[in-house]
Amino acid sequence: MFKNKKIFVLGMARSGYEVSKLLSKYNNKILVTDKKEQDIKHIEELEELGVTFIQSDDPVSLIDSSFDLVIKNPGIRYDHPLILKAIELEIKVVNEVEVAYHFLPKDAFVIAVTGANGKTTTTTLVYEFIKAMGKRVHLGGNIGYPLSQIVEQVEINDAVVLEISAQQLHDCYDFNPNVSILTNLVPVHIDFFGTYENYIDHKLRIFMNHNSKNIAIINKSNKDSYESTKDIKSNKIYFSSTEEADCFIKDGTIYYKDEKIINLNEIRVKGMHNYENIMCAIIATKELGISNETIKEVLNKFTGVEHRMEFVAKINGRDFYNDSKATNVKSTEIALNAFNTPVVLLLGGLDRGHSFQDLKDDLTYVTHIVCYGETKNRIKEFADECKIDCTVVDTLEEATRFAYNISNGGDTILLSPACASWDQFDDFEKRGETFKEAVNSLE
Ligand code: ADP
Repeated sequence: MFKNKKIFVLGMARSGYEVSKLLSKYNNKILVTDKKEQDIKHIEELEELGVTFIQSDDPVSLIDSSFDLVIKNPGIRYDHPLILKAIELEIKVVNEVEVAYHFLPKDAFVIAVTGANGKTTTTTLVYEFIKAMGKRVHLGGNIGYPLSQIVEQVEINDAVVLEISAQQLHDCYDFNPNVSILTNLVPVHIDFFGTYENYIDHKLRIFMNHNSKNIAIINKSNKDSYESTKDIKSNKIYFSSTEEADCFIKDGTIYYKDEKIINLNEIRVKGMHNYENIMCAIIATKELGISNETIKEVLNKFTGVEHRMEFVAKINGRDFYNDSKATNVKSTEIALNAFNTPVVLLLGGLDRGHSFQDLKDDLTYVTHIVCYGETKNRIKEFADECKIDCTVVDTLEEATRFAYNISNGGDTILLSPACASWDQFDDFEKRGETFKEAVNSLE
């Protein structure tokens, strides 16, 4: 299917590079274009494999009907002029996941995770569970390792766990995971998809080739997830953190099909949202025969994915959590809801002019706010309005030290900044690392 073809790869980055490398082994003639400069080592490596790279603002001038296939980077909109041209020329457009999927051994067991929130955490949990079972398992997709990069290491009967974005589902046709997880649906990425309905339609493509032998794991209490999946053909298994379902929480315990799996107090990560991610991972791996002991073993140790409510350290009775991925107010609300003991909250970052008012109802346990960065003065005004003690500093390092100095044993010190990081950092990862270094320097 992807052999002896003439292929146009639109957008290089990581996935365009990996899929070109993969396809170069199958006698394909490949042209990769990107409007941005690319890593010279990657370009040289591709050229050695016979792949042509052209940096161009005008890819339309490079395509004609002699091409058999276009592979589109998921970040590029589907009304991009090159895509419209490909459609006019009747050239099939697919994405990297679809291509790489065709190179998996038939018997590989594929678990795919999508949803508005919790994808990375759930994908990581499923991977950790399967690894702890002693089975061969591969991690990939939207999580930093394109499927094209890992597909050749997959052997018959291996498990493959993939994080899949809605954008990646757009140009997928044959992709058919054995288990598909939809964590939840809320209106996001509307700028890309135009409408929420269109976004949901894309998400549902993760079930599009399912029949009753495939499993769909669905959030029963998330109305849009529940309603929109009513007609899918999969074997549906439901989880819920608020009502009875196949997997649910009762009296501080997670149950699956009436069996007690684990008490919440045996789980290191906090927050109802994380228990939901955990339930998804339990359902998926029960299909592979995981024992409750193995689940407990992993959840006793799992401190969260880096920068997402990640437990950093306990210093003189204070627990430090890094939730640098919380780049908006909604994420900070979710983080705050995970605590029922005093919290010193570190807030601040890029000023997009956004309001902090939605945090108002979530500050019950917040004893002090320390704010920094571009938004610091607006946060101070908001804190004063809420009658919460607030101190303004310039940097995250100062904020961390200050929070430590004014806190008491038993407090939580939480970085969940409710702002993007770009006023002072390259990205949220750098911000989280700075926080962790500042915490560790307190010891
Ligand atoms: P994604 O990969 O979908 O962006 P992550 O696992 O990286 O999700 O989590 C990012 C943030 O989303 C977390 O810090 C938390 O604030 C929030 N989150 C995680 N899981 C859930 C969930 N199940 N429901 C709602 N919000 C969640």
